[in-house]
Amino acid sequence: MSARLAIGIDIGGTKVAGGVVDGEGSVTHRARRDTPDRSKSPSVVEGTIVEVVTELMQLVGPQRVAAVGIGAAGFVAADRATVVFAPHLSWRHEPLREALQKRVAVPIFVDNDANAAVWAEWKFGAAQGETHVMMITLGTGIGGGILINGQVQRGRFGIAGEFGHMQVVPGGHRCECGNRGCWEQYASGNALVREAHSLFSANSPTASDLLDRVEGVVANLTGPLITQAARDGDPTARELLAEIGNWLGVGIANLAAAFDPGMFVIGGGVSAAGDLLLASARETFKRHLAGRGYRPEARIAAAQLGNDAGLIGAADLARYPAEEQTG
Ligand SMILES: [Zn+2]
Repeated sequence: MSARLAIGIDIGGTKVAGGVVDGEGSVTHRARRDTPDRSKSPSVVEGTIVEVVTELMQLVGPQRVAAVGIGAAGFVAADRATVVFAPHLSWRHEPLREALQKRVAVPIFVDNDANAAVWAEWKFGAAQGETHVMMITLGTGIGGGILINGQVQRGRFGIAGEFGHMQVVPGGHRCECGNRGCWEQYASGNALVREAHSLFSANSPTASDLLDRVEGVVANLTGPLITQAARDGDPTARELLAEIGNWLGVGIANLAAAFDPGMFVIGGGVSAAGDLLLASARETFKRHLAGRGYRPEARIAAAQLGNDAGLIGAADLARYPAEEQTG
């Protein structure tokens, strides 16, 4: 009972969320701070992380915490120590583990947030019992994680699973990464909002219900609001989500051709739309699958751990760094 608690920290663009996670993947204590804005130096963000870790350690007693895992949105090197690039933070080749390890007495590991999420969903969530799992997190962009036979597949340089930047439309929408036509420009929260905006600017009468919901202030339209409108039966909102689902299905069919997993787990904020999104994804996936009708088909399911997946996975990966090597 006393041992094996771990702390997980999920660093996003707006919040540093921390939790104490027990051996069953339950979050027993929580703490959070706002993420210092991008203009602040890396050491300010690190100070914030140490504050959250210290608060959590005091809540349960520092001697009961075996490790700290950090899940960050960004490219994390395969050594699980260095953040190579984080779009929402000032980290560029930042030696995060080394910086934090000077101030925290237990072992620390750093991971990409989607890698942490796929681990959590496999161990405690939707993908339990599966051998070949791919996680797709739909937020403002697309994050990805690959788990095969109990091991997170990080790639040679730690950057495997950046599915969001696979090109699906040659010459398509410009992406933050510098390329055009990336998958996340078509199947993400940002894509959903952009499509709604384009209906507004076309003065489409089909968008009047959505426009009423934001009292005419187009800038206030968000993904969750579109999802709510779809749940309430608004046909335009449903169509927008189905369209995102279609693009999701196209990309998943490509991933199936490359990896042949048994299951795709769909997480992230947009996945809260459930079957309003996944029904069209499944349909399009079947239509685009190579060798369809003559091969087994992967399942496509919603994630179960919600916003906690990154935090739980980061904690658990840090707690059992050796177990992951052996499955
Ligand atoms: Zn891109």
